[in-house]
Amino acid sequence: MDVGLVNNSQGTAMLSRRPRRLAYQTATASVLWTVAIANVVVIVWLWLSGGGISAVHGLGDFNTSVGRVTGLLSAYLALIQVLLLARLPWLERLVGFDRLTVWHRLNGKVCLILVLAHVVFITVGYAAMDKIAIPAEVSRLLDSYPGMVAATIGTGLMIAVVITSLVIVRRRLQYEAWYAVHLTAYAGIALAWVHQVPTGNELTANVAASNYWTALYVVTLALLVFCRLAVPIFHAFWYGMRVAEVTAESPNVVSLRITGRNLNRLKVRPGQFFLWRFLGRGRWWASHPFSLSAAPDGRSLRITVKKVGDFTSRIDEIAPGTRVVAEGPFGVFTDAVRRRNRVLLVAGGIGITPIRAMLEDMSGDLAFIYRVLRESDLVFRDELDQLARDRGIALHYLVGDHIGQAGEHLMSPAHLRRLVPDIIEREIYVCGPPAMMQFIEKSLRDADVPRKHIHTERFAL
Ligand SMILES: Cc1cc2nc3c(=O)[nH]c(=O)nc-3n(C[C@H](O)[C@H](O)[C@H](O)COP(=O)(O)OP(=O)(O)OC[C@H]3O[C@@H](n4cnc5c(N)ncnc54)[C@H](O)[C@@H]3O)c2cc1C
Repeated sequence: MDVGLVNNSQGTAMLSRRPRRLAYQTATASVLWTVAIANVVVIVWLWLSGGGISAVHGLGDFNTSVGRVTGLLSAYLALIQVLLLARLPWLERLVGFDRLTVWHRLNGKVCLILVLAHVVFITVGYAAMDKIAIPAEVSRLLDSYPGMVAATIGTGLMIAVVITSLVIVRRRLQYEAWYAVHLTAYAGIALAWVHQVPTGNELTANVAASNYWTALYVVTLALLVFCRLAVPIFHAFWYGMRVAEVTAESPNVVSLRITGRNLNRLKVRPGQFFLWRFLGRGRWWASHPFSLSAAPDGRSLRITVKKVGDFTSRIDEIAPGTRVVAEGPFGVFTDAVRRRNRVLLVAGGIGITPIRAMLEDMSGDLAFIYRVLRESDLVFRDELDQLARDRGIALHYLVGDHIGQAGEHLMSPAHLRRLVPDIIEREIYVCGPPAMMQFIEKSLRDADVPRKHIHTERFAL
């Protein structure tokens, strides 16, 4: 532990709060893991007590039994899938929005594999028990089993969601199209409930299991509605946010200052982001993530947006007075995860936004690298120069493609060590577009910075 590095009272206070925060996070993580694993145990126990192993006497029974347990586990993972992105505040604070998105992607794939295994094992098992061919069994299941049509549509929707999320497909899709397909997953889960609870063979005969599964679905739905609907609606009225000012920072970067009521009650840290929804014509239906680009002062919030696509290219058309709904704050890219007094902040392009806010607020020995391709991409230059002067921050602007004006390989491990000689003793925060981040993270690792001291925010979910 680097407590010995602390050289000011703010830094000491920050590090002394850390054990309490760590204890809270460990306790929350333990509770969440216990609940998640306990549910798996109950699900497997219900399957066992329903004859999952004891009633297996042949290959047909075996396949059917495996089909049942994979179906039950896939239903459970589908509920976890919803909860991972239900914006549960304690989960968000513990794991962070971007890591939850990664887990969501992984969990979605495992869930689909289990669904497909369920379909295959059940069909093969039933066909063996009915002593008919598989195509005949498929048609029999669809014709005579209640809930089978719902299950088939639900499975189709889940397959569509996973396929459109594969990197190669998603790159070719508009975000809005991808998101619309994703929304149908909720319909898929509702159809899975119809297949499983009121009509499923396993649960119609077992009241305890049926009640247990109903409770799982109801709790998931309640948390989803509360966190994704009730809380944002309440916040919209409570904070009454509106756009107060729209300012051009450069030809393709615009800042919006947002005012409202009770903003001093908002628990937000520099480095965090919100999902912003602007209630104007043609915009109200989509929310977009933007980080705060200035430390919150209790009266207003500032975001700064680069024009890159459909929504952002028209951001400067938003009129002052437009109502705003902000979901959040989200993200663990803040001073709270810091362990060391010495810090290096690295911004790539528009990744400057959360870093600009953090520079205003962070204590300790700060160094800062701002990496852009062209001089015209540098925003907040006057503000940054002023902050550097006022707070004694070592500031480096790096402009150019890969080779800098002095012929150096920009951001190579050797270049980083030259710019910041004590780099391996610093806590490092990096934010920027995904491709730039990948390169910077590799250089930092090659410069021997331990992974645990590198904190990142990717501008992509
Ligand atoms: C945590 C986080 C913080 C961000 N902070 C900033 C910031 O401070 N300033 C800034 O300029 N940009 C920021 N971004 C990026 C910004 O959200 C996107 O550039 C913007 O949403 C693009 O919208 P578009 O319709 O104009 O572009 P499009 O061309 O439609 O999309 C470009 C890319 O942006 C992403 N995207 C598009 N719409 C959404 C959406 N509704 N929700 C999530 N992602 C979407 C997709 O990955 C897409 O491939 C941040 C992104 C994230 C994930």
